[in-house]
Amino acid sequence: MSLIDHILDYDSESLSQRLKKMGMPSYLVNQIFDWIYCKRIFDIDQWSNISLTNREKLKSEFSFSIPKIVWNSTSKDGTTKFLIGFKDGHQVEMVIISSLKRRTLCLSSQVGCAIGCTFCHTGTQGLTRNLSTHEVVLQFLLASSWLKDDEGSESKISNIVYMGMGEPLHNFENMKMATKIFLDPKGLGLGQRRITLSTSGLVPQIEKLDEFPPVNIAISLHSANDEVRSELMPLNRAYDIKRLFQAIEKIPLKAFRRITYEYILIRDLNDSEEDIRALVSLLNKKESKVNIIPFNEFPGSRFKKPADALVEWFCESLNKRGLVATVRVTKGDDILAACGQLKSLATKKPSKLPGFSSIES
Ligand code: SAH
Ligand code: SF4
Repeated sequence: MSLIDHILDYDSESLSQRLKKMGMPSYLVNQIFDWIYCKRIFDIDQWSNISLTNREKLKSEFSFSIPKIVWNSTSKDGTTKFLIGFKDGHQVEMVIISSLKRRTLCLSSQVGCAIGCTFCHTGTQGLTRNLSTHEVVLQFLLASSWLKDDEGSESKISNIVYMGMGEPLHNFENMKMATKIFLDPKGLGLGQRRITLSTSGLVPQIEKLDEFPPVNIAISLHSANDEVRSELMPLNRAYDIKRLFQAIEKIPLKAFRRITYEYILIRDLNDSEEDIRALVSLLNKKESKVNIIPFNEFPGSRFKKPADALVEWFCESLNKRGLVATVRVTKGDDILAACGQLKSLATKKPSKLPGFSSIES
């Protein structure tokens, strides 16, 4: 990892402070942010309204490198999966999921994941490292640029979900700064409701969510029964359902509105009438929404996906008992881009690169 800060590690406020310390004028922030987030020109040599001296000074203090899209593939349903390669050779995946109403970017927060959920492809590779703020922000910029090149300037990413590789709250500070940049009116200017952070339930970090910018929160619950949840998520042995919900109760709901509970439905494991009853008694009906995700199989997975009729029955049963529940349509499973199927593969061949006018890492 480079020791020098990257220019995309800062939101406008923190960059302004940093420039001040360097003895540079604070109006430079507006110009820098305009080139990066508005004009999307990353090559500092093209920043014509900034003096040569100031550009040299910036170059000596900050990195401007851009990771590469080393591979991408589009599935039959239009879901595009990308493999992003960083300077140190590590890779992560991101996915663009399109529907009529929105275009969602599912981005990664870590190379691998330390949580080790037994149903998750990413979880099987362990944690290599956290992504830095700029590596998270650049996933958005690379995806936007690819869309523009591929489909024309009309195509834009409308929503971001932190549901790719990694546990976002395990990389709290970097994800916090990346979120600030996504929301920053001088940065990407996205609305709070357009960003969703999904967490496996790291209790100490959930307790700190009042320090995080207000975005939608999704909790990966997967079972209302401690024994079953511990089998699926070893983390539940440290932070069981009772502790998790004590922490969830403290989330400032005004900002976070309703909480989404993700529930991977696995055949013969958490799909019974008893599981429905446990869920209904655990969740607060007014403040909760259940998102049922039919388990996505991947090579070597030990669990099985449920039949469509069972998924429908499970969802309807929750609705009948007053819980808002929906089924997440599985997208991109023919190219292993669906939830939980992400795992970086170093062997794939490069494909088309986006039209960045910038220095490559
Ligand atoms: N680490 C975070 C966010 C990334 S995982 C978390 O666990 O919440 C994003 C979502 O994909 C989670 O709800 C996760 O449980 C789900 N997921 C993981 N593996 C899956 C699989 N094999 N089938 C379906 N969903 C899966
Ligand atoms: Fe990590 Fe989320 Fe996968 Fe669990 S489901 S191993 S927390 S990425």
